[in-house]
Amino acid sequence: MSESVNDFLHRFELERAGVRGVLVRLSRSWQQVRARADYPPALAGLLGRTLAASALLTGNIKFDGALSIQIKHAGPIDLLFAECGSDGRVRGLARWHGDIADEFRLDAAQPAPLLAITIDNRGSGQRYQGLVPVEDARLAAAFEGYFERSEQLPTRVVLAGDAQGSAGIMLQRLPGEGSNDTEAWHRVGHLLASVNDGELLGLAPETLLYRLFHEENVRLHDGKPLRFGCSCSRERVAAMLHCIGRAEAEAAVREDGFAEVTCEFCNTPYRFDRVDLEHVFHAAESAPAASTRH
Ligand SMILES: [Zn+2]
Repeated sequence: MSESVNDFLHRFELERAGVRGVLVRLSRSWQQVRARADYPPALAGLLGRTLAASALLTGNIKFDGALSIQIKHAGPIDLLFAECGSDGRVRGLARWHGDIADEFRLDAAQPAPLLAITIDNRGSGQRYQGLVPVEDARLAAAFEGYFERSEQLPTRVVLAGDAQGSAGIMLQRLPGEGSNDTEAWHRVGHLLASVNDGELLGLAPETLLYRLFHEENVRLHDGKPLRFGCSCSRERVAAMLHCIGRAEAEAAVREDGFAEVTCEFCNTPYRFDRVDLEHVFHAAESAPAASTRH
């Protein structure tokens, strides 16, 4: 899979310190996400780092589904969404209004923007959502806060992103054995803080981790490839049309007889003619009622 060589997730352990970690890098997949819109550079950087974070957060959880991160109420950013599936697919998008200056700071918005982290577990049908405010110019601090609040798990995150790639490292202090070693936790935290964007975005995983943590007995696990991919489907678009209602769906039918819905993540067009729409609404009406109508 040569195209995935620079799009990967590696788990690792720092055995001496009793710390586990995840390293993520996105290059081709990030470029595919970024190419969907003419993002202002500051917004592109934020989207890239959020996308890397969504992959980082999947590193230490067992699930079958997708983990998404949404940033809400962030001034000129109307929506910022990034998602990583348990199958290694990533996708993301942002919407904004007006200008976004290069020196835009997420924490400058009042009230503080909210970071919503959602884990959709298809296997069990369970959905979990955690919310954390963004109160620091460093986006990574919001993820650290998320783990400290939701799991009481000391966590350090660094993120980097430019037009070509995005990347991140997450360290977590293992519960139980060795967890009393506060000094070791501070030591690896300082080592992590010394990493620069160029190293994070460019060095091979072995080289990067050795450079940062060579005295910590790094154990690097096999990498998992990541790639751009969308989970949209005709069925999901039909369900969305059903949600917006018959009148609005029919109003969207153009002169050529088709209503067209384009997926914002992957630009796949889905076309529905009047007969298709009839099926969408008729099928739903004749299906057994899922809820009682009053
Ligand atoms: Zn799509």
